[in-house]
Amino acid sequence: MIGKNPNIALIGAGIMSATLGVLIKKLIPNAKLILFERLDQVAAESSNAWNNAGTGHSAFCELNYTPLRDGVVDISKALRISESFEISKQFWAYLKKTDWVDTPYPFINDIDHMSFVWGEENISFLQKRFRSLSSFPIFEDMQYSDDFQQIKNWIPLMMEGRNEREEIAVTKMDIGTDVNFGAITKSMIAYLQKFDDVEVLLSHEVKQFKKIDNAWLVEVTDLENDEDKTMAAEFVFIGAGGGALPLLEKSGIPEGRGYGGFPVSGQFLQCTNPEVILRHEAKVYGKAATGSPPMSVPHLDTRMLDGKRSLLFGPYAGFSTKFLKNGSFLDLPLSIEMHNVWPLLAAGVHNIDLTKYLIKQVTQSKEDRFEFLQKFYPEAKIEDWELITAGQRVQIIKKDEQEGGVLKFGTEIIVSEDKSMAALLGASPGASTSVSIMLDVLKQCFPNQIETDDWKKSLQEMIPSYGQSLIEDGDLCLKTRAYTTEILKLA
Ligand SMILES: Cc1cc2nc3c(=O)[nH]c(=O)nc-3n(C[C@H](O)[C@H](O)[C@H](O)COP(=O)(O)OP(=O)(O)OC[C@H]3O[C@@H](n4cnc5c(N)ncnc54)[C@H](O)[C@@H]3O)c2cc1C
Repeated sequence: MIGKNPNIALIGAGIMSATLGVLIKKLIPNAKLILFERLDQVAAESSNAWNNAGTGHSAFCELNYTPLRDGVVDISKALRISESFEISKQFWAYLKKTDWVDTPYPFINDIDHMSFVWGEENISFLQKRFRSLSSFPIFEDMQYSDDFQQIKNWIPLMMEGRNEREEIAVTKMDIGTDVNFGAITKSMIAYLQKFDDVEVLLSHEVKQFKKIDNAWLVEVTDLENDEDKTMAAEFVFIGAGGGALPLLEKSGIPEGRGYGGFPVSGQFLQCTNPEVILRHEAKVYGKAATGSPPMSVPHLDTRMLDGKRSLLFGPYAGFSTKFLKNGSFLDLPLSIEMHNVWPLLAAGVHNIDLTKYLIKQVTQSKEDRFEFLQKFYPEAKIEDWELITAGQRVQIIKKDEQEGGVLKFGTEIIVSEDKSMAALLGASPGASTSVSIMLDVLKQCFPNQIETDDWKKSLQEMIPSYGQSLIEDGDLCLKTRAYTTEILKLA
C-alpha cells in the first residue's frame, strides 16, 4: 500500500492521465504528481479534437455496440457504455461547477445522435434494437422512423436527391453530444499545474524503468536539452496512448507479456463549403460493412472544433507502422519480441477479413471515398470535401490459449502484481469512458483505499451516482441526467 504523500508518475498528457491526475489529487491531496509528455504540448495525440471523432459515445447511435446474436440484439455493451458516459458527464459537471475546468468555448455540445440504415434486413435489426433499448430509462426518448418525410425533416441534407422508394430507417436521440476531448484535457492539466506539488514536464520522453524495493525509477530524456534524468515514483500510470505498449514491454512486468499492437490510422473528409456545413445538424452513424472492424462505422457528423462548426465524414482507415501520429515508422517492428510474435502471427491468420479491408481502404482513390460519402449525402460535390488525417489507434493483440492470439477492439488495463504500475492499452470506446476507465484503475491499484469512507465520500462528491447503477435505477438515471444537462448547459 502506498503512503500518504506518494510520488506518482503519469506518463502521457492525454485525457486518461489528466483524468487520473485530477482524481488522485482529490483523493490523495498530498500526492506529488509528475506528468511526463514527449511532445512540446499537451493533448496533441488522440485526445486532440482534430484527431478523434468527438462523439460522446453513449450507444445512442453506434450500431456496433448492439450486435445481433442468433436473431436477438445484445444490448449489454450498449448499456455499459451509456452508463459510463453518464459517469463522465457527472465528473465533468463537477469540474465545471467547481471551476476546475475553464475552457474558452464549451467543451461539450448537444447534438442529435442518429442511426441510419438501408434495406430490409438492416431495418429489421434497427427496429429490434430500438425496441430493446427504449425499454430502459437510459435510452428514454429514443425515436424511430421509416417515414421518408419524417426523416427528411430530421436530416434534410441526407435526403436531398434520394429516391423516395428507397427503404431506409432512422433512430434519433436528441440528447447526444459532441465533445472536444482536447479542450477538457488541456483544462484539467492547467488545473493540476496550479498545485505546487504537481509538475508537468513537456518534451520529456520516458525511455526505461527499473524497479527498486518499493519504487520505480523512471528514466526520462529531456528532448529539448538532450539530457537524461531519473525520477523515483511509488506508483506509475502508463497513459501513453499508442506509446503504452512499448513502455509496458520496457517495464518488464510479467502481466504485460503476450501483448502486441496493430496500428490503424483514421482519416476523414472535411466539408469546406460553409453553406453545406450549416444544412446538417446531427451525428448520423451507419452500419459497418460485413468483415470491417468496429472503428470503421461510417458517420456524417456535425462537429464543434475550436468553437467553430464543421462537417466531417468518415472514418476511412489508413495504415502506418507508427503507434502515435507523431511516432516513428519503427514503432511496429520494434514492438515485436519473442513473447508476442506468435500472438501477432496468429491474430493475423484469424483476421484475414481485416487485412483485406485495410488493403482496400489504403488503395482507395479520392473518387472511391467520395462514392461512399454519397451513400449518406447523394448530392455531395467532390470539390466541397478534403481529406484530413486524424489520430492513430493501436488495436490490442492478446495471447490466447486456444487461438494463439486474438485481436481486441476495446481497452485493457494491465496492472503489476504489487499494484505499483498500471498501463492502458487500446482506444475504444475511448475518451468518452475515460472516467470509468480511470475509476477501474483506482479500484485495481488502490483496492483498500477505495473502500474507505473518505474515498467514497470524495468520489460521490464528484460523481453523485458513484456506487449505484444507472441502468437498474431509472429514476436516479433521469435525475442525474437532468443535473448534468443543467450544469453542462446541454439542451
Ligand atoms: C480516429 C479516431 C477517432 C476516435 N473517435 C473517438 C470518439 O468519437 N469518441 C471517443 O470517446 N473516443 C474516440 N477515439 C479514442 C480517443 O481519442 C482515445 O481513446 C483517447 O484520446 C486516448 O487518450 P489517451 O490519454 O490514452 O492517449 P493520447 O491522447 O494519445 O495521449 C497519450 C500521450 O502520451 C504521450 N506519450 C507517448 N509515449 C510517451 C513516452 N514514452 N513518454 C512521454 N509521453 C509519451 C503522447 O505523446 C500523447 O500525448 C478516437 C480515436 C481515433 C484515433
